[in-house]
Amino acid sequence: MAQTDSIRTIAGIGPKKAALFAKLGIETLGDLLHFYPRDYEDRTRITPIASLEVDQPACFIASVVTTPQTHRIPKPGQKTLEVTKFAVADHTGRLNLTFFNAAYSAGKLERGETYCFYGALTGDYLGYAMTNPLFEPLDAAGTITRRIMPIYPLTAGLNNKAIMQAVAAALARCTPTETLPEALRENYGLCDAATALQEIHRPSSIEALEEARRRLIFEEFYIFSAALAIVRAKRSVRAVQPFQTEGMEEFYRALPFRLTNAQMRVIEEILADFRSGKPMSRLVQGDVGSGKTMVAAAAAFCAAKNRKQTALMAPTEILAKQHFDRLAPLMEPLGVRCALLTGSMTPQQKLTRRKELAEGVYDLIIGTHALLTESTTFQNLGFVIADEQHRFGVSQRAALLSKGEQPHLLIMSATPIPRTLALILYGDLDVSVIDELPPGRQKVDTFLVDERYRKRLNGFIRKQAEEQHQTFIVCPAIEESETDSLKSAEQWAQTLRDYVFPDLRVALLHGKMKGAEKEQIMSAFAAHEYDILVSTTVIEVGVDVPNATLMIVENADRFGLSQLHQLRGRIGRGEAKSYCILVSDNPSKETRARLKALCATNDGFRIAEEDLNLRGPGDFFGSRQHGLPAFRIGNLAQNMTVLAQAQEAAKQTVASGALPDRLEEAVNALLQNGEFSLN
Ligand code: ADP
Ligand code: MG
Repeated sequence: MAQTDSIRTIAGIGPKKAALFAKLGIETLGDLLHFYPRDYEDRTRITPIASLEVDQPACFIASVVTTPQTHRIPKPGQKTLEVTKFAVADHTGRLNLTFFNAAYSAGKLERGETYCFYGALTGDYLGYAMTNPLFEPLDAAGTITRRIMPIYPLTAGLNNKAIMQAVAAALARCTPTETLPEALRENYGLCDAATALQEIHRPSSIEALEEARRRLIFEEFYIFSAALAIVRAKRSVRAVQPFQTEGMEEFYRALPFRLTNAQMRVIEEILADFRSGKPMSRLVQGDVGSGKTMVAAAAAFCAAKNRKQTALMAPTEILAKQHFDRLAPLMEPLGVRCALLTGSMTPQQKLTRRKELAEGVYDLIIGTHALLTESTTFQNLGFVIADEQHRFGVSQRAALLSKGEQPHLLIMSATPIPRTLALILYGDLDVSVIDELPPGRQKVDTFLVDERYRKRLNGFIRKQAEEQHQTFIVCPAIEESETDSLKSAEQWAQTLRDYVFPDLRVALLHGKMKGAEKEQIMSAFAAHEYDILVSTTVIEVGVDVPNATLMIVENADRFGLSQLHQLRGRIGRGEAKSYCILVSDNPSKETRARLKALCATNDGFRIAEEDLNLRGPGDFFGSRQHGLPAFRIGNLAQNMTVLAQAQEAAKQTVASGALPDRLEEAVNALLQNGEFSLN
């Protein structure tokens, strides 16, 4: 049986069940094998009856000491309720068991026989009892007792048992592919694939489970790292025409300010790559407002002087347009011809733009990622800049390889992740850091408040407006929901308009609006046609409104620290003192500590580390906004050691040039399947 066989080949899985499995992303036997439990329940310990604790499920071995009696209680209009009762005992005590609607199975229990039970005690000082425990004969192989039970992620209609059975069938029927060479497994003390999968689903002991887990985590990181190493190796092996990098002064002189030392250093690093004759693959990390755009512009200027076209890709249309509006007036006088290409242009406009691009009319083309994916052809594309790396994952990085000539690649990220981690995760990239803000930048004062401050908060918004300044209000949801009490942008904007600030100009912006509409509102806000902008996190990236001096984040506990930091980066961009106010009624100590951390510092890297420490890797890495790959079993924060080992091993494997077939398949699948495209 092959791992690629459909799960329909398992007896008992028909079209209906298969559809449920599909909801969990399971279509083949291989998918089942790699559908790992999210947790385990250790039922290996046998507890004497006298030591059972209320509400603590446990296994115990006991004999049936009274004959099971079943009573049927008719219920008008409902199914008859069956109640089966009897007592069990071990050498430490006696316990009354009650089964509801389980007369058939409970009836199988025979007086005088010994069974293993699993259940939770209920009761108080008046007496203890237990309802509907699981049980099986003592001489049967433990399938639900005396073992470590896997707990799977579920979906409505599929219970844990159904998944366990399907997994068992898959384990019995196919031999898993071994992607790790034997020598490597020996080197790092890793068990083989078959053992690992067997133990991860049906652990024979806690130790064996840990071994299995380590092996699978290693494998996952190893394949990921191998993919990065391959992309890197493929890129650096190609030679490109070295760029001339003289004459940059012309660009520097055209700027209205002096670049910071950090900006200059990073530009130098880029220019050195340009001169090297190898395609650059560089990640520039810099906090919001550190001036990444100018670094990119300097590099694009150099490319243009070398008669190469540059494509600058922004994550949103608004941002692309803003880049264009800022860069064109600077670059055009320097002879760098700029153009904008976005999805909201008319088909005719796009057609014309593309034609011009192919003819080489422009040196710098700015747009969204559609620039590369759509059928844009360039006359002489030599340089690709991706603003905000999280939309530009490994698979997109790899896809660039196929773009005929080998363009230099610069990825700009405002997501500060701890540097050691960056080096591992972006193993195919060199990393530069802009660790300095332009002079005179205001620190944004940040406060945490709760609902009791609402009145003062409103007064503060009014004060900004009276001083001709503007306010951003960020809400976690777009629309009102019945299930939670989150502030919704639509509702809140309406309330503010109708009741709180009927005399002020309140705008609404959210992600469900059409691109053109969003753009129109954003430009109107930037032009001070509104005093207040109520929005969702769509304003998170890039947008520049120097006149905005106040940002209020509602239900602030709903956001990650790094995300809040990004939001805060939208203000403090002008002359006037700026404030960020986090509103949260969440009383949890950790939550308050987390939000306080943001009040205490403006340093994005420290905040990222704090986020990681406080929220734990699940939340920090779980949210895709960080642009980090989602691993099935590996955990970037908890498994750093394994990650480092796997990366080392992958580098060696790739450097040796002999990629095992199976590994190559796995790497290719990873590069193609978009799971790591991080969108
Ligand atoms: P980010 O790194 O967040 O992308 P930007 O490139 O958008 O930052 O720059 C933020 C603002 O700072 C812009 O208005 C830009 O013109 C300005 N800026 C960039 N570099 C400098 C500098 N060296 N001195 C003063 N202002 C600068
Ligand atoms: Mg930027």
